[in-house]
Amino acid sequence: MSISLDVVVQDLYNLLRPDDFRDYCPNGLQIEGRPAINRLVTGVTASQAFIDAAILEKADAILVHHGYFWQGEKAEITGIKKQRIKALLQNEISLLAYHLPLDAHPKYGNNAQLGSLLDFKIIDELYPKHKSKVGVIGELVKPSSALELKKQLRAKLNREAFHVPGRAEKISSIAWCTGSAQHSIERAHEAGVDAYLSGEVSEQTVHFAREAGIHFFAAGHHATERYGVQALGRYLAEKYSIDHMFIDIDNPV
Ligand SMILES: [Zn+2]
Repeated sequence: MSISLDVVVQDLYNLLRPDDFRDYCPNGLQIEGRPAINRLVTGVTASQAFIDAAILEKADAILVHHGYFWQGEKAEITGIKKQRIKALLQNEISLLAYHLPLDAHPKYGNNAQLGSLLDFKIIDELYPKHKSKVGVIGELVKPSSALELKKQLRAKLNREAFHVPGRAEKISSIAWCTGSAQHSIERAHEAGVDAYLSGEVSEQTVHFAREAGIHFFAAGHHATERYGVQALGRYLAEKYSIDHMFIDIDNPV
């Protein structure tokens, strides 16, 4: 089967509501390829390695969390940026990218998908009054020690998580936000949870966690953001009977 690119772009617009967010990049169709999609390839980041793999898989469109045209980057299409865009245009592959709207979506979002993978139940938003600040608060379906949670992270994400010990012997409440949201540990502490989990860590995060007595886990920016885009790909594949494949170009950060 194949479906028109316009229909998919409109569907994702209705589903993810990008206009509700103040983001650092355009959300939606970033590069236009052929007018119909038969084969969709999803991935975390539209790197050259990912594009090359998508070309080999004969993708009509790629759908990613980290696309292009970030605020503050230089506008000129030269060097690495030229190579990536040239490969897409020459092969008529569309680039669809969704950043904050994909982190935040209550069903297909990175936070929702990571929560269901790790058996965390969402109770509230971390910033209920700010649509553009993402993150959630919840609880572990089965309260665990930090060691047990680290083991679970290794088993589910295939990666060793970085951990700063906190006060709670059994972790039952947790806040999380995928990617580079380590700064939201401050908000998590205000919310009074036992632990906070994100993708990345900064030098100051360690001091904050130690002094606040909150467990902190950095489970990888890439590793925590693999799941939203896959869920979105499956949604489109089922709805429009198109082929979908997720390609994981691993990244240790
Ligand atoms: Zn990210």
